[in-house]
Amino acid sequence: MNLFNFNEKTNSFRQLLHNSGRVVLTTHHNPDGDALGSLLGMHFVLKEMGIASTMLVPNAFPDFLAWLPGANEIIIYSKQRSMAESHLQNADLIISLDYNGARRLEDMAESFERSKARRVLVDHHPSPESPFDIEFSYINVSSTAELVYELGCALLGNKPISYNAAVSIFVGIMTDTGSFSYAIASPRTFEISGKLVEAGVNIEDIQRQVYSTFSEGRMRLLGFALSEKMKVFPQHRAAFISLSKEEMKRFNYSIGDTEGLVNYPLSIKGIVFSALFTENSSFIKVSLRSKGNFSVNDFCFKHFNGGGHKNAAGGKSFVSLTDTETCFEKLLEIYSQQLNL
Ligand code: 5GP
Ligand code: MN
Repeated sequence: MNLFNFNEKTNSFRQLLHNSGRVVLTTHHNPDGDALGSLLGMHFVLKEMGIASTMLVPNAFPDFLAWLPGANEIIIYSKQRSMAESHLQNADLIISLDYNGARRLEDMAESFERSKARRVLVDHHPSPESPFDIEFSYINVSSTAELVYELGCALLGNKPISYNAAVSIFVGIMTDTGSFSYAIASPRTFEISGKLVEAGVNIEDIQRQVYSTFSEGRMRLLGFALSEKMKVFPQHRAAFISLSKEEMKRFNYSIGDTEGLVNYPLSIKGIVFSALFTENSSFIKVSLRSKGNFSVNDFCFKHFNGGGHKNAAGGKSFVSLTDTETCFEKLLEIYSQQLNL
């Protein structure tokens, strides 16, 4: 994997770290496995270097990630606003992990932007937006956690990656690659995963903690969504699922319960584009996935106020759930030829 200017940037990063008293680590709104894995992985790497850091996330994370070592030390901006605010304003250095611009911080964005701290980006999304002093922005790595591993090795030199860092980084790589089934452009992802197993990671245990801890409600919501709420358009090689607030409430929805749902329609033979629309109090959350060449990143940027990667993107719709569905169906007609290439 060619990580352009990686060594030079790492040297500047090391200096910046040693000259910064208060280091704050941040990740994006609705933190997923890679977001938390990168955040905690970096925290434990810095700890090995003798550098303390404070971890901040904009809002709560799902239960299936709450067991991660150190997760209980993470400050949640939406719940502990004044504490989070003071960490951001008093920081000497803010490290942004797994997001490419302040907008991805939602309510925490303004406070992040106001801070006078130096900034370092560690991310694998295209086209970083906010200005950073150092950018580790590489779109060819499987996940931000993979980048954290590379940085960890470079920063720690001969010192090994700790068990806690290894577990966190493994969760990031595993979740962002759908358990090593996509977004892998190089054998390096497997080499790193091998090193993490050497560091003590128990794959079976991690798989169980992340994927086999559904509540009954979440399992039934999955069944309901697939059997009652999925619309398939074989002529456009596409499908979508939509869930209203009321429907999610009926299955005792809690944060993270729709995670992974958008991937299911892609298991239907011939389907290359899948969408999930979930209603919340102020907008419709849009999740998009594709297989192959169709770029959901571009599609989401153009039509749903968001972005992400070529095969996985997210955004928002500010019309009703029904209008969002209608709009999407119209877009399918327009994109039909591209989807049938
Ligand atoms: P998900 O559908 O799981 O929420 O997100 C899929 C991918 O799109 C992730 O890489 C995530 O970082 C990105 N993403 C999700 N929501 C947004 C959004 O509102 N704006 C942008 N730019 N990216 C998003
Ligand atoms: Mn990621």
